[in-house]
Amino acid sequence: SALIEIDDLSFSYDNGKTNTLKNISLDIPAQEVTAFIGPSGCGKSTLLRCLNRMNDLVDSSKITTGEIRILGQDINAPKVDAIQLRKHVGMVFQKYNPFPKSIYDNVSYGLRIAGEKNKKRLDEAVERSLRSAALWEEVKDRLHSSALGLSGGQQQRLCIARAIAVQPKIILMDEPCSALDPIATAKVEELITELASEFTIVIVTHSMSQASRVSNNTAFFYLGELIEFDRTQKIFGNPS
Ligand code: ADP
Ligand code: ADP
Repeated sequence: SALIEIDDLSFSYDNGKTNTLKNISLDIPAQEVTAFIGPSGCGKSTLLRCLNRMNDLVDSSKITTGEIRILGQDINAPKVDAIQLRKHVGMVFQKYNPFPKSIYDNVSYGLRIAGEKNKKRLDEAVERSLRSAALWEEVKDRLHSSALGLSGGQQQRLCIARAIAVQPKIILMDEPCSALDPIATAKVEELITELASEFTIVIVTHSMSQASRVSNNTAFFYLGELIEFDRTQKIFGNPS
């Protein structure tokens, strides 16, 4: 069933002069990976940022028409608080961005700002999140060392651990592998497919081959329009 329903969404950064997103309607199923693909500038990241209202932070004359519902709730309704929303809709960025703090502090950050102070519960959440992000074995003996000492691939998996620690329903990923080497990319791709058993994942990628490897559903965008949306297997065909 659809966890995220996008209904006739249009979005403009410049007060309606140009529509960066044009009449997008799309239902994103729960506990699967959905890839947004299409050429640079077609609006993939803009749509991703609409899903957790990150575009609210952009300083321009924005216009949004249409509706996005998450679990049936209109996320742009006046009573919905964007900070609250982002607890349920985590985000992982292209350029991995751990805080210049310890590994432990990075992973526990979201829980601590939510008011959790119990050391045992924080310890457990840190271990659980690092295990889910396939990073625990690599870092368990250096939890209090700086996150910036990790390799790029480890830093991105740490950012994934930080995103999942607060147990969001949805994880948005904007080109999560484009700053990684091929081996680190393969590890993150494997992780993405594993995490889909627990979370609903939306990934922006410029790479068709990556979409075909990690996603269950693919949405193809061109010049702000949704051109095609289907099961990934149907879009890319059977390789045999
Ligand atoms: P994609 O992710 O597919 O490469 P984007 O969503 O980043 O595309 O960009 C879509 C269009 O919106 C581009 O023309 C881009 O220049 C424009 N755009 C993106 N971010 C902003 C912004 N913060 N302010 C104004 N225009 C933007
Ligand atoms: P495509 O060629 O369609 O972009 P690939 O399947 O070749 O996709 O690559 C998948 C991911 O691996 C991409 O996100 C790409 O950025 C990354 N990647 C591929 N080759 C390299 C490389 N030599 N160095 C770093 N990253 C790479």
